[in-house]
Amino acid sequence: MNIYWYIVSALSLAVFTCGYISAVYEIKKQDYESWEHYHQCYTLDTKRLFSCLEYNPLEIIDRLAKKAGIKSPEIIFPEYDEETNVFVLQGEEGPYLVISPVLIGDLNEKQFEGVAAHEIGHIVSGRRGLNWLYFHNGFLECFKISLLGIALLFVSSPLHPSLAITQIWLTILFGVLSMLCLIMMGHIIRLSEYEADHFAIILSSEPEAFIELLDIFFGRDLSFCSESTIEKISSIILQTHPPTPKRTARLRRDLKILRKNK
Ligand SMILES: [Zn+2]
Repeated sequence: MNIYWYIVSALSLAVFTCGYISAVYEIKKQDYESWEHYHQCYTLDTKRLFSCLEYNPLEIIDRLAKKAGIKSPEIIFPEYDEETNVFVLQGEEGPYLVISPVLIGDLNEKQFEGVAAHEIGHIVSGRRGLNWLYFHNGFLECFKISLLGIALLFVSSPLHPSLAITQIWLTILFGVLSMLCLIMMGHIIRLSEYEADHFAIILSSEPEAFIELLDIFFGRDLSFCSESTIEKISSIILQTHPPTPKRTARLRRDLKILRKNK
């Protein structure tokens, strides 16, 4: 091994570590900013919100959390939120649930129970795939520095062709590794959706309501709406949720097995 290899290895390790740590820091910062945003900008009079409902969402979530053996999460109903959505975020004191009031207005009690049970499932299983994001960032930083290395080798005089070729291979390697980590992250996140779905049928009293809801709300596979092939491929690789027909087919199969074993 010549000195060049020692320098490149040490530099790559240092850059990878910096990339990894900066991604950890970035996620922590994002978590804190979301938490601050939801706690400062949005407050909703839940009494007013629940008065037009036939059920109490907080009671349902309490019951489901108890059944799953976890502490009831904090729940935020953001005011002026037009989007129909529900998700788990990481707060200062553990995970919390953000539920858009529009969503509650759209769902009946059994449907809401299914959705809440799915989110409780996310809390129980924790945040999956984050490590792959950190790895991705580490390799991405190595890729960028490697590109710079190629440029430096080409402008340096005299030119070192063998070093330049080695550097090109290294750059390709870092690029591929960073892509693979991203694909791995997507895969693990989609697996965690199946896991959360499984919680929905275990915890809720009428699992069919959740399965039907998935069919109604998310039945269309949006990845096919993308215009270009690259967009289509990236939406398939990076999408956070598996295609709904796959989810509902799996849920129906699991439900059958659960009922058979009862
Ligand atoms: Zn989910």
